[in-house]
Amino acid sequence: MKVFHARGQDALSEERGPTFTGTVWADPIMPATDKVTINNVFFSPGARTFWHTHEHGQVLNVVAGCGWVCKAGEAPQQIRTGDIVWIAPHERHWHGAAAGSYMVHTATSLGVTSWEEEVANKDYPAASA
Ligand code: MN
Repeated sequence: MKVFHARGQDALSEERGPTFTGTVWADPIMPATDKVTINNVFFSPGARTFWHTHEHGQVLNVVAGCGWVCKAGEAPQQIRTGDIVWIAPHERHWHGAAAGSYMVHTATSLGVTSWEEEVANKDYPAASA
């Protein structure tokens, strides 16, 4: 057992870069422990991840705002405050904010995350979720 205390007042958020489009900030709230990592992630309007997969899956808990989650080969699905998303192991997907709203989710990631290419503008919904 290990307790991860809430972040201190002097803790710095991390701006996420090369595998995200737009401005994305993250607070690591549980560093990788037994292949489980938990991050609070803030996506500014229009920001999203690149395409990626998770070795053992991922749970997203939307805590504020609204946005999109998209499985490869399917249409993006709206997500908003209170929604929970289960992403199956090795399922190719992306997630992020709507064009007109920020979105904050707690992401519980299981195993290794494998990053792929950027989500093309043509595949990102211009309409607000
Ligand atoms: Mn993911």
